[in-house]
Amino acid sequence: MALDDERSIDSDSRRQEAEEVGCYGLFRGIAKNLHTHEEWAAETAYKVDGPFYCPTCFSDAVLRKCAQKVDHFAHKARLSPVLGPKEKVLHDACTSEICSLMQARFPEGKWAVERLIRENTEHKIKALVPDISGRVGETRVAIEVQVSALTIPRIVQRTTDYAKRGIALIWIVPLHEPLGDVPFRPRLYERYLHSMYFGRTYYWWAGQGLTVKPVHYGPASRHIEYRQWFDDGEEQSAGGFDLAYKIIKTPTYGQDLDLCRDFSAEGRGSFTPENERKEVPACRIWHDGLPPWW
Ligand SMILES: [Zn+2]
Repeated sequence: MALDDERSIDSDSRRQEAEEVGCYGLFRGIAKNLHTHEEWAAETAYKVDGPFYCPTCFSDAVLRKCAQKVDHFAHKARLSPVLGPKEKVLHDACTSEICSLMQARFPEGKWAVERLIRENTEHKIKALVPDISGRVGETRVAIEVQVSALTIPRIVQRTTDYAKRGIALIWIVPLHEPLGDVPFRPRLYERYLHSMYFGRTYYWWAGQGLTVKPVHYGPASRHIEYRQWFDDGEEQSAGGFDLAYKIIKTPTYGQDLDLCRDFSAEGRGSFTPENERKEVPACRIWHDGLPPWW
């Protein structure tokens, strides 16, 4: 492969990473030293020149040097402990726990796991297989339990297809363990669901039954150290204040919500979330009665 081809593949994968992270601040291969605020280029820097941070979003950056790729910096932050694509057993435990509790609560609701809703050729709606579905009173509800990093176009497609069928949809994100209170960096799909549900993402972990935790992504900041130096005999200084992270958030919990009692069906028009490029389509959501956020 020609060097130019390799470089363009490389730049594509870094662009994809920036999109996922939500910040292009490291795209040019420049990061700053956390203590001196000096700029370093990935090609000439070594690990000992760090620790580094991203000049745009202020989160930690790591230097990556490997034979197959151009030297570059990458964002580094705590992520939520979501289930991976190979953890079907945990996913199935979650869906069957929720489904059997819904069935117990609404015996007439025909609650089922992975029910096939056939394609509607007349209205051009694809077949759907909701993780959990049934009725709450007269309302048709689908609960999608998000495991692997489903791409945004697929979330959009599915959301639209449920809306066309008049089914109220809720996406929940199952975790290995409680999310905790330490700031973290929500993934692209977590941020997207956060927008879709008016500023919260619903997390679930084992033992919660029908309870979900609505989490708003609140602000988080880091302290930038004060530094003094002389430049051509002139005294200079920088830092000594807190800066708000752009992509790292503090999990801010609303009250625990019961998947039946605290939700109702609601339609919402399409809109484009702030700081994201992808539009949220018109949808019918299974929506809680809390204020926009807290
Ligand atoms: Zn950044």
